[in-house]
Amino acid sequence: MINFVFIAPPAAGKGTQSKLLVENYNYVHISTGDLLREAAKDSSSLGIQINNLISNGKLVDDDLMILLLKNKLKSVVECNKAFIIDGFPRNLNQAVMLTNLFDELNVNNYKVINMNLDYDEALKRVLGRLVCPNCKTSYNYLIDNLKPVSEGICDKCRVELVKRNDDNEKTFKDRYDTYLNLTVPIISYFTNLNKIINIDANKSSDEIFENIKTYVTEVM
Ligand code: AMP
Repeated sequence: MINFVFIAPPAAGKGTQSKLLVENYNYVHISTGDLLREAAKDSSSLGIQINNLISNGKLVDDDLMILLLKNKLKSVVECNKAFIIDGFPRNLNQAVMLTNLFDELNVNNYKVINMNLDYDEALKRVLGRLVCPNCKTSYNYLIDNLKPVSEGICDKCRVELVKRNDDNEKTFKDRYDTYLNLTVPIISYFTNLNKIINIDANKSSDEIFENIKTYVTEVM
């Protein structure tokens, strides 16, 4: 199976698509945001520093990020599992770091999914997003077909849904600016390597998944 790397603005649905790939094809999902949110729970000075950065929509240091990612990715590749990297790279330096890491680990069968999403749609998704702290399923109380059956409760785990502390309008603007200024330039880097798949993320998650599915078993 092809390995995937997601590049997207906030709330494009990379977490949702990753979850669908895990459930349907047994992919291993590596989310740098989730790795950081775990690390931010630690009361050490590093944990507090990470918490401050993500709460303000700022990027965490590249060297720390690649270290966190490398440990995780190495073990997945050694087990011969197909993977999804969600949230990395976020800038050109990280893109170069990632391709170097792929070379080191002999990974060549990968594609970079570039999810395009309009600003207003991204904002609506961020402001209404609620996440299950247990299974990480995303819901949205501003979008009809993404509302949970019982208000504020996860359909599967029956636990109370939570709002991410970076899902507010101010932080969204900073995260979107970071995406435009730092992440968008990565697209031409991977286009030159012939790795980009363009996806319209304004569509429903089912439609997006139908599209992504067609690449899972692509022979490279
Ligand atoms: P996400 O869950 O992917 O939206 O990430 C949440 C936050 O974690 C981002 O707004 C950043 O503060 C931080 N983060 C996630 N991935 C990275 C990365 N590759 N480099 C730097 N910071 C990151």
